[in-house]
Amino acid sequence: MNIVLFGPPGAGKGTQAKRLVSGRGWVQLSTGDMLRDARKAGTELGRRVADIMDRGDLVSDEIVIALIAERLPEAEAAGGAIFDGFPRTVAQAEALDSLLEGRGQKIDTVVRLVVDQDELVARMEKRAAEEGRADDTVDAFKVRLKNYNDQTAPLIPFYAAQGKIADVDGMGGMDDVSARIAEALDD
Ligand code: AMP
Repeated sequence: MNIVLFGPPGAGKGTQAKRLVSGRGWVQLSTGDMLRDARKAGTELGRRVADIMDRGDLVSDEIVIALIAERLPEAEAAGGAIFDGFPRTVAQAEALDSLLEGRGQKIDTVVRLVVDQDELVARMEKRAAEEGRADDTVDAFKVRLKNYNDQTAPLIPFYAAQGKIADVDGMGGMDDVSARIAEALDD
């Protein structure tokens, strides 16, 4: 099973991906987490992406595609991958399709979390207080939302053309959203 958790920054992708990991034993493939890990470890990659991430811009397709490719065998062994924060551009989505195809796999469902813009800002502010991420500032968040609208939203027609999108209401409590996702996946 290969699921994309799709939505703007602050939609709850990370939270819901973790719940699917504990509920179903699948592997969460979050490029944002992988990049933050590289920064914490002080690797060359981490140093290269630090400024880009902190201002809310996207790192290159090449970097994130390589990170994902490396982790596919692990997800396959676990019986499922939850792509979280990837793909974020049409080029990434095309690369993912061909990587999966090369392994005899495909994306099964794109769960699109639909959340109001005001709620996204409120969640970002809450996360800023809790986690202190450098890109959870008003300025960086504006850049992230713009990048989402310009570069990531075109994935909606891309996946809709493949008949893969399941819209899920991402407003309200985490438990309610988890229940809606489960319904969409088990449909
Ligand atoms: P996230 O935790 O998914 O919000 O990602 C945090 C930051 O990591 C993003 O704002 C980007 O700078 C970078 N990043 C994560 N995933 C990607 C991706 N698929 N493509 C490009 N940049 C990414």
